[in-house]
Amino acid sequence: MVYMDYNATTPCDKRVVESMLPYFSENFANASSVYQPARAARKAVEEAREKVASLAGCLPEEIFFTSGGTESDNWAIVGAALKLEARGKHIITSRVEHHAVINTCKALARKGYRITYLPVDSHGVVDLSKLEASIKKDTVLVSVMYANNEIGTIQPVGKIAELARSRGVLFHTDAVQAFGKLPLRLDKNGPDMASFSAHKLYGPKGVGALYIRKGVSIPPFIKGGGQEKGRRSGTTNVAGIVGFGRAAEIVAAEMDADIERVGNLRDILEKRIMETIPEIVVNGHPENRLHNTLNVCIRYIEGESILMSLDFEGICASSGSACTSGSLEPSHVLLAIGLPHEVAHGSLRLSLGRYNTMEDVEKVSSVLPGIVDRLRQISPFWNEKKTG
Ligand SMILES: *Cc1c(COP(=O)(O)O)cnc(C)c1O
Repeated sequence: MVYMDYNATTPCDKRVVESMLPYFSENFANASSVYQPARAARKAVEEAREKVASLAGCLPEEIFFTSGGTESDNWAIVGAALKLEARGKHIITSRVEHHAVINTCKALARKGYRITYLPVDSHGVVDLSKLEASIKKDTVLVSVMYANNEIGTIQPVGKIAELARSRGVLFHTDAVQAFGKLPLRLDKNGPDMASFSAHKLYGPKGVGALYIRKGVSIPPFIKGGGQEKGRRSGTTNVAGIVGFGRAAEIVAAEMDADIERVGNLRDILEKRIMETIPEIVVNGHPENRLHNTLNVCIRYIEGESILMSLDFEGICASSGSACTSGSLEPSHVLLAIGLPHEVAHGSLRLSLGRYNTMEDVEKVSSVLPGIVDRLRQISPFWNEKKTG
């Protein structure tokens, strides 16, 4: 099997699994209890917090563990809205966000909030002048992602932070795809809040974090026993958090080499595909793009049928995002960068990672042209174009 869907999820690193195992059985204690095993669990959680903070370039006390990227996004947005309810009901986001952000904003819109969806250019970068013009007296939050999960485009997060800060507006960024793939340094010049998820960086599913900058406070989203200093209740997911910490530690040690190696594989794959398949476009920013992501639109055929043919060859890839596949609507991200519906329908996302090899690249680049050829033979649009 060739797995090239690392932006959807990553396999849990064996070293991560190993670090987690003791907290399921030998030490299963509730981290909030008073006895010795609970103290040991607490210590392990605090060590994990330090490792996650170190990878994020922030303080340990600025990290709050959650159930994942989706919860972190929901918490940041709803939390900011509730905190600043008296000041206004306007939120600015972008047209290329993950559904965890988009659907949270849509839910607030139904409660009377005004949402501005910033347009992006053909590379997927938000328009900073539109952002500046959109900030009004009643604006309480800007939420723009760090790096896009579908096309890999990296946003000018530093500039957005500067703009938001100069106008006294909170800034949240969904950094789920950036965390572990880009060196982050979250400090007073950056966003006020940032969302992370462990399973995108070789950690377990169902655990993540929200970075909340020191001095910023939002009300809790999950209420209960007061864990995470009262900000996020629920019995601490000790094993998950320990695994998240170990995953962050491994990424920190291996990130530079990984960017180099995986980036090189992606570039070779991109070059081969572009050379062998006609009528194809690469989506995303040519430079400011995640090193592992290759998103293409192959004209005159459907992304879904490419995926099925690849699956038949034992290749796991995706079309758009994992959340939209299965639906017949083209990706909102590809529409936002200005692609017409019929082109956006032919999208294929190959996202690489730690366990990909040159053989994987060879396999994909050798089978894809044949698949495209076959699908085009039976495509009415392709035949129309040839005869027309
Ligand atoms: C995967 C992903 C999420 C959701 O994270 P979960 O931990 O799966 O809930 C949010 N935002 C982006 C950009 C993602 O890629």
